[in-house]
Amino acid sequence: MPPVAAAAPVRRVLVLGGTTEGRALASACAATPGLDMISSLAGRTSAPLLPAGEVRIGGFGGVDGLAGFLRERRIDAVVDATHPFAATMTGHAVAASVRAGVPLLVLRRPGWTPQPGDVWHRVADLGGAATLLPALGGRVFLTTGRQSIAAFAAVDTCWFLARSVEAPAPPLPKRLDVLLDRGPFSLDGERALLAAHRIDVLVTKDSGGSTAKLDAARERGLPVVLVDRPPLPPGADVVPTVAAALAWLTRGTVVQAG
Ligand code: NAP
Repeated sequence: MPPVAAAAPVRRVLVLGGTTEGRALASACAATPGLDMISSLAGRTSAPLLPAGEVRIGGFGGVDGLAGFLRERRIDAVVDATHPFAATMTGHAVAASVRAGVPLLVLRRPGWTPQPGDVWHRVADLGGAATLLPALGGRVFLTTGRQSIAAFAAVDTCWFLARSVEAPAPPLPKRLDVLLDRGPFSLDGERALLAAHRIDVLVTKDSGGSTAKLDAARERGLPVVLVDRPPLPPGADVVPTVAAALAWLTRGTVVQAG
């Protein structure tokens, strides 16, 4: 069912961020008269890209903490614009908004869809990716994020190039090079990187967004291990774009679900 816009006018919105979409929604809210917005970041990176407007950083202390925050700050609506793999935060947001009686919308960019020529191996989780990898290649480009590298620590038949914004913490694979970098990444850059490191398999979460690394892998005929998204909590209202989230906040109309 398509999500129905918040019933009462929204004056103060909490945006749970840490994503490009979270920052874009914060900018859109900041430019919307009559809308006060607070962005929340987890505080995982030491130099985060900060959204426009008021920003708070750090966990809320679980469902109770978030429900208390919603009441204390008199939040009228919550938009969960966290990363598709930030499942704990999304679960907490859904539970806390029910508890505090505050409407919630989930803003999720769509996952990727395969193109002709793609050689994708979908797995349910990082453990599935680690199990499958040795059969697919020996030189792995790992783009699942700093906190996911530990899942590959026991895979000692592969060499890994892991790209992350900040250095990962142990446990780590024995044969690992880390490339510290932050997107967006161009197709030319991804092509050059796959060639320079003689990569023969790519591992990524199904995050959606830029397809540059997938396009570069397809051009080289490389297999891609794609980790499926965790499921959304049942009953969550979801939209795929910042424009649809802003419409939900401002128009009082029904918007189309993603
Ligand atoms: P997670 O496992 O779902 O969340 C763990 C805990 O971190 C939450 O229970 C919450 O702590 C805190 N938290 C997470 N997001 C928060 C936010 N926006 N504001 C305040 N507290 C937050 O999250 P994660 O996967 O570690 O991701 C952390 C952040 O990085 C998210 O904001 C996400 O958007 C961003 N991110 C994640 C990924 C990924 O692959 N997972 C990729 C890119 C960006 P309390 O229980 O104490 O409230």
